[in-house]
Amino acid sequence: MEFFQYLLPSQDYLHLNQWKLDHSTHQLTLVVSSIQRVTACPLCQTSTQKIHSRYERQLKDLPCVQFGVTLLLRVRKFFCVNPVCKRRIFTERLPQVTLPWARRTCRFAERLIAIGLALGGAAGERLSHRLGHRTADSTLLYLIAQLPLPPIVVPKTLGVDDFAFRKRQS
Ligand SMILES: [Zn+2]
Repeated sequence: MEFFQYLLPSQDYLHLNQWKLDHSTHQLTLVVSSIQRVTACPLCQTSTQKIHSRYERQLKDLPCVQFGVTLLLRVRKFFCVNPVCKRRIFTERLPQVTLPWARRTCRFAERLIAIGLALGGAAGERLSHRLGHRTADSTLLYLIAQLPLPPIVVPKTLGVDDFAFRKRQS
């Protein structure tokens, strides 16, 4: 297996087709394809192999040494074979790699969220530039705002503090 294959977010679902290292811009570009054979419709969960078309997504990934990393991800659109499903065509999902419509990989987003939660917008932006992420403060704050709220825990025991205007009366 080629060395750059180990850098991919998922070796099980992605195959490295080619790579390009640009020393002038410090950019590493990895051209990868999805290799999952069967995918499920996101609406009805019916599995299908019937390909409609292919297209390319550009995703920012974690930087490698001093190189920024971009994934050119070739993904497919599939027909849903369930005749009663409202979704006729859908794009394959790669939850181990990225979210639908996202412009960065999940692991890169997780890194930015960790920076944003620790430092906030302005300081997080300064650190992200120092680490080679080149991310704006508004992006960090947007990613934090997208996080789900923590679950509300119902207390099992309630304590009530004693209160009295006069001593020995409660
Ligand atoms: Zn469907």
